[in-house]
Amino acid sequence: MTRTRTALTIALLAVSLIIVGGLTMVPVSEQPVGQAGTSQIDPEPASDDQDLIDTVLQANANDLTAAKPKLQVAPDTDLTVGGEGVYLPYLEQHAVPVPAAETVTPYIAREPLLPPPDGVVREAQVPILMYHYISELPPDANDIRRGLSIPPAQFEAHLRYLKSNGYHTISLHQLLLHLTRGEPLPEKPIILTFDDGYRDNYDRAFPLLQKYGFSATFFLITNFIDEGRPAYLTWEQVKKLAQAGNEIGAHSRDHPDLRGRDTDFLVWQVLGSKEAIQNGAGITPRFFSYPSGKYDENTIAILASAHYWGAVTVKQGVHQSSGTPFELERIRIDGSYGADELSWVLRYYVQP
Ligand SMILES: [Zn+2]
Repeated sequence: MTRTRTALTIALLAVSLIIVGGLTMVPVSEQPVGQAGTSQIDPEPASDDQDLIDTVLQANANDLTAAKPKLQVAPDTDLTVGGEGVYLPYLEQHAVPVPAAETVTPYIAREPLLPPPDGVVREAQVPILMYHYISELPPDANDIRRGLSIPPAQFEAHLRYLKSNGYHTISLHQLLLHLTRGEPLPEKPIILTFDDGYRDNYDRAFPLLQKYGFSATFFLITNFIDEGRPAYLTWEQVKKLAQAGNEIGAHSRDHPDLRGRDTDFLVWQVLGSKEAIQNGAGITPRFFSYPSGKYDENTIAILASAHYWGAVTVKQGVHQSSGTPFELERIRIDGSYGADELSWVLRYYVQP
């Protein structure tokens, strides 16, 4: 009897110790450190970029001990997209948990926002050429692949033609500053763009661009790079392209049709691909290429909110306007084009 009572007392003691221990541990581990950290990001747009950078740095420092997944938000990110009630829960839902070690050196973009336009409406005829693959055709190539592929020798013929005819490659960044602020452009400006971010852009196009002293803009499908797909660029290659003076733009996360989509979807594709490039290569992209050229007014609104400066379409032409920076025209370069055809399309579209 006594032995039973003793055992019962010990058991009760053990149970209450577990309960007390549990109770004292729960509040400590559930202190909302992470929430305190992220909630310090002011949902209102900061008037001073540096203030916002400091706020984000402070928030990141507060997050170092947080168990909660941390949000990496670039300082120029507009936290008011779709209203605070839409945007912040969206970010939290899609936040990727960041290992503690990586939170010590968070990516902080210090690049400026678009300098204020001077209000003058400007138009310019600037050809923006659209390339995809620079490679020999695989034996099983279908018509689509055929149309999108330019063999390296043929691409070099294009570059040789552009060089000997006095063209100067510029960036979309330069074009926008010209349209919005009148900053001068070189004689016969032209922009070379590559959609999709294929690996051959680095292996084949890049050395030829360097050989002729040209630069280009590469639009990346960021999920394909994050997944390490062998047909696409790696982040290391993207960094090398950028270090050599090339421009990096976004082409969405996984190349969907962006028409008729809700805000969450568009933010994920548009802001998500921007942040993927910031995280992967330390570059803030300012230009977007619509996947398959498909977009609507909502797409443009979200691009503007995410602080893109402009976007390229597949609308054929060379007429660029300060009034429509998110609808820049391009010339599709077909796989069958040699230097003669390139010369012909440039003369066809650019009015003397
Ligand atoms: Zn594409």
